[in-house]
Amino acid sequence: NADAAMYYSKEAGRDSFHFFTPDMNARVFERLSLENSLRRALERQEFLLYYQPQVDMPSGRVIGFEALIRWQHPQMGLVSPARFIPVAEDSGLIVPIGEWVLGEACRQNRAWQEQGMPAVPVAVNISALQFRQPQFEASVERALAESGLEPAWLELELTESMMLHQGQGATDLLDRLKARGVRLSIDDFGTGYSSLAYLKRLPLDKLKIDQAFVRDIASDAGGAAITATIIQMAHNLGLSVIAEGVETEAQLEFLQAHDCASAQGFYFARPMPAADIRAFWDGRR
Ligand code: C2E
Ligand code: MG
Ligand code: MG
Ligand code: MG
Repeated sequence: NADAAMYYSKEAGRDSFHFFTPDMNARVFERLSLENSLRRALERQEFLLYYQPQVDMPSGRVIGFEALIRWQHPQMGLVSPARFIPVAEDSGLIVPIGEWVLGEACRQNRAWQEQGMPAVPVAVNISALQFRQPQFEASVERALAESGLEPAWLELELTESMMLHQGQGATDLLDRLKARGVRLSIDDFGTGYSSLAYLKRLPLDKLKIDQAFVRDIASDAGGAAITATIIQMAHNLGLSVIAEGVETEAQLEFLQAHDCASAQGFYFARPMPAADIRAFWDGRR
């Protein structure tokens, strides 16, 4: 094929060449090279965790942190998880990456406690593929054992889709984690097109209202209605509820008027490196 072009991938390393025809677009190429460098990122220690405070309203007291992975790529700079998590999920690399996140978040939270910071949970995002691994429970146990963190200070963020099509095995797993004292929350709640039946069946602690609804609170009656309904439903089910992506005073006022007791968002604090959390905490006292 005279139109075939050969591309050289910097990220993929000196010795990797790929053939592309014009109809294979640049995105496929980018994805391949991203996957190749993702493969080496763990051993090269290119990942780090940022932490975003979760606050109580109206006191503003910090009640927890969410750990959010960042990839410090030598050429590309800081790569957002929106870009590389999907690639990590498709390639299966999310399993070892997710295990690293669990271990690192537990280690950091324990270190903060040893430095005298008040104990609060650290929330860790769990991928569906990671959750389905037979070794998932063992990886949680290992992270707790190696860090010495008490289970109550670890929160796992699961998604609605993971609750769907889950057999007895998954229900039993969640029951065991809950019995250990680990907290369980549902991330991006309201976006999963799932049945609500699992909410009363599973041992959950918290719903995180997706930021899409929170964003629309002030501008759109639909977003406001959905947010208010989720808060009410969480109360009725005896679950905690937190609003994600709170950016404005107007959103904050709406949430408080509707009895939402906690929030997370740029209005309070952006995700930040672990080293900055200390100063943030001291500054708030
Ligand atoms: P998420 O778990 O729903 O995390 C919340 C995202 O919203 C974060 O994006 C956070 O930086 C962003 N955010 C927080 N407050 C605001 C706000 O006020 N306004 C706006 N516009 N955004 C806000 P981030 O860190 O880019 O992470 C994106 C997604 O990547 C996460 O969504 C989560 O699904 C995934 N992710 C991040 N870290 C991990 C991880 O360690 N493991 C897995 N499996 N997924 C992760
Ligand atoms: Mg999350
Ligand atoms: Mg979320
Ligand atoms: Mg999200």
